[in-house]
Amino acid sequence: MNSKKINIGVIGVGHLGQYHVKHYAQMKNINFLGLHDSDPNRGLEIAKQYGVKFHKKASSLMKACDGVSIVTPTIVHYEVAKRALKEFNCNVFIEKPITKTVDQANDLIKIAKNNNLIIQVGHIERLNPALKAFQQYDLNPKFIEIQRLAPYTTRGTDVPVVLDLMIHDIDILLSLVKSEVESIHASGVSILTDSIDIAHARIRFSNGTVSSITSSRISKDKVRKIKIFQDNLYSTIDLLIGQTEIYNITQDSKKIKNALRTEPFSHDNKDKFITYEKPSVEDYDPLRMELDNFVNSILKIEKPIVSGYDARDALDVVIKINNMILEDIK
Ligand code: NAD
Repeated sequence: MNSKKINIGVIGVGHLGQYHVKHYAQMKNINFLGLHDSDPNRGLEIAKQYGVKFHKKASSLMKACDGVSIVTPTIVHYEVAKRALKEFNCNVFIEKPITKTVDQANDLIKIAKNNNLIIQVGHIERLNPALKAFQQYDLNPKFIEIQRLAPYTTRGTDVPVVLDLMIHDIDILLSLVKSEVESIHASGVSILTDSIDIAHARIRFSNGTVSSITSSRISKDKVRKIKIFQDNLYSTIDLLIGQTEIYNITQDSKKIKNALRTEPFSHDNKDKFITYEKPSVEDYDPLRMELDNFVNSILKIEKPIVSGYDARDALDVVIKINNMILEDIK
């Protein structure tokens, strides 16, 4: 195992960046060199709060670091990440979405590859403990329904709901279905803002899996649910409360014995049962896990859980969905 301490910094310390600072400041296995923000008042405030250095220039931090978290508004992810990768040979953790366009994402991926550097992206829902609890089951989904509803806030409304919220679920979907996207149908409407506030997409994969995804930022209550249907299995994953429930149709006596509840399944008159299980959901902080994964990926102990390629693929699908909706409402 590599025992060298690497140097890490954070660029952009607004709402989310401050939590990157908080976690890095607690890590014993790195040298946390501090932060930069284009707003010096904000930068100094967060640096003071965590007792770390404020760098007036991004370049001084990038120059000294092996890796930086980029937690600036999406619109500047590309220019900041390109500088870190190209001018300073610095690995990057970029908050989601990776960039504004797929061309920009491809350019960053190419630069990173040529320089043997890591791009990791903050699709944090992939590390949601409730989703992780589901991953011990054999996956072969036939139908996946995902709902992400949120009450209105002004945060994130500079981009359509598809780029702000639905992108989380597209990333999860692409990680669950190992097949090419075959077709997309999408619709959406603006209600409160000038861009799309509610969107629905129906995505079909070439292996036949179908998914239905709804995202809203103008709902009364928060909902973040995934329902997965496959042969003899139905699962609901509640990403918000951290709960995974599994219904299986089985003849396996061990599964029947270990289930929380069982009911005879009489559909085809065989000795089958519907079992109900609630796998235990671990208690951990997904952001801390992501950042540990970034550090360990730089040290070559682990691989990024969400790579630049994954983030580019999710962006590609959401941009297609968004363009389809815009075309539809023209
Ligand atoms: P924010 O506006 O609260 O903070 C952004 C900060 O970046 C500000 O302090 C601003 O001064 C600074 N900044 C702007 N341009 C800069 C530049 N060129 N160089 C250095 N600093 C710069 O935004 P936020 O809500 O923290 O979001 C930041 C990023 O994180 C966005 O890409 C957003 O999509 C993403 N995000 C991800 C999640 C998630 O669930 N993974 C949640 C929220 C936000």
